[in-house]
Amino acid sequence: MPKYIFVTGGVVSSVGKGIVTAAIGRILKSRGLSVTVQKLDPYLNVDPGTMSPYQHGEVFVTADGTETDLDLGHYERFLDVSLTRSSSVSTGQIYQSVLGKERRGDYLGGTIQPIPHVTNEIKGCIRAVGRESGADVVLIEVGGTVGDIEGQPFLEAIRQMRKEEGRHDTLSVHVTLLPYLGASGELKTKPTQHSVRELRSMGVLPDVIICRSDRPVKSELKAKISLFCDVESRGVISLLTMPSIYEVPLVLEEEGLGDYILELLRVSDTERDLDDWRELVARLQHPTDEVTVAVVGKYVELHDAYLSVKEALIHAGVHYNTAVQIRWVQSELLEQGDLSSLDGVQGIIVPGGFGERGVEGKIQAARLARTQKIPYLGLCLGLQVMVIEAARAALQSEEPNSTEFAPETPHPVISLLSEQEGVTQKGATMRLGCYPCRLVPGTRAHEAYGVDDIEERHRHRYEFNNAYRDVLAKAGLIASGLSPDGQLVEVCEMQDHPFMVGSQFHPEFQSRPLRPHPLFREFIGAVAAYAGQGESEGSEETAKIVSDVTSAAASGS
Ligand code: GLN
Repeated sequence: MPKYIFVTGGVVSSVGKGIVTAAIGRILKSRGLSVTVQKLDPYLNVDPGTMSPYQHGEVFVTADGTETDLDLGHYERFLDVSLTRSSSVSTGQIYQSVLGKERRGDYLGGTIQPIPHVTNEIKGCIRAVGRESGADVVLIEVGGTVGDIEGQPFLEAIRQMRKEEGRHDTLSVHVTLLPYLGASGELKTKPTQHSVRELRSMGVLPDVIICRSDRPVKSELKAKISLFCDVESRGVISLLTMPSIYEVPLVLEEEGLGDYILELLRVSDTERDLDDWRELVARLQHPTDEVTVAVVGKYVELHDAYLSVKEALIHAGVHYNTAVQIRWVQSELLEQGDLSSLDGVQGIIVPGGFGERGVEGKIQAARLARTQKIPYLGLCLGLQVMVIEAARAALQSEEPNSTEFAPETPHPVISLLSEQEGVTQKGATMRLGCYPCRLVPGTRAHEAYGVDDIEERHRHRYEFNNAYRDVLAKAGLIASGLSPDGQLVEVCEMQDHPFMVGSQFHPEFQSRPLRPHPLFREFIGAVAAYAGQGESEGSEETAKIVSDVTSAAASGS
């Protein structure tokens, strides 16, 4: 039987529950336990697939093609696991299922109520993930903040589960914020006290309170929280805001959280191995080089929209002991041909995206990368704009386009597969999740992966149009990865270029801190080489200026 750890949040949203949940998972995994994670999202959407990035940040796609909350990305990265559909539950799904049962008559004429029907459905989902995964510990993060109306059925389900599963098989962790008041120069505990009171009023008593703060928490303050919130002093854990999220497992472990959780859950402490993680953090903290990469997108003021891309760049950077600075470039700014916002970057990424806004700017970025031989990595839409740009150059026309942006284009180099025509429903109608891909020997992509067959995660509707394969290959843009039947182009690359690779899939979802993704790793390798080249050119130039000035001085002119 698995043990269940419930993580709730209080005081403010975005307090870092997702990272804390992922970090607890890593700590338990380092103790030799098998761990899985589930996110319970209180919103009414069935999944976040149709939500705007402004509302929700990135949509993370699991291997089985579920469109999920970005916290699942944190879980996968920290735990190095591949999660499934059952790890992502929303109120919308719960109601969909309950109402489906009601229509089928499964409730035998009963009156359907939040308690017990909705709470039973929630408990069923929680237990299912435990059963399916066979994990020793299931971590359940409840989205939103304690006190939200829509979160109440989840808290009630947790209360019931704690009673049914028993105290030693369940644990409640509450994450809060200690705000700092500049005027009095103190961290305040009152919001935490209120939040815990609210949680207790729902019948959920916390065992651990994790206090996030921007200043160190003194032991007297911890004692006060312990007293007022009725939590053992060992259960009050302070979490100072860290420069990198990857430091969080080490901080929590230092605070004694791992030992305390195992004790409460009556798990005998076996091994403890965070060495690889410690090394990761040490490398992150002490880079020897730095490069700048532009990410050209539509939602650049909102970095969460490209969270997995950002993390994948960090992972690849760590591999080379290099800090990757991201320059977020608004694609619409490039549309008038002013590319100055790309000045000085050593690599360009065009990430995924939907809709016409800013696409021409992304095509400009691809043009700059191709003609100036700047390393380029295209992710899904990034591959599509790379193909459009190459086709425009090859056909000497500005007409080639994707039918997503120009349905009537005479050169639909990116288009829908014929069987997709006529799909009108928006939710979950894309090519989603893992598909196999065979790499072409002798290509950069094959060299990067070092294997023939790969599986990568997709989330798109449009595809490379095979009618243009030959003409583009003649222009130097070759297919370097295909579906096993050879029908779908999954990876493309530009020949005679240091690194210009695009994938129809999203490699960023499979990058892990200790296992950077091969395409990101090779991309950053090329970026570092490009930067090094620039440096030596730069230093030659500087050397020449210095020698000119020196000889001028020597000749007395
Ligand atoms: N809009 C493009 C498509 O649907 C690309 C999607 C993406 O980048 N994820 O095919």
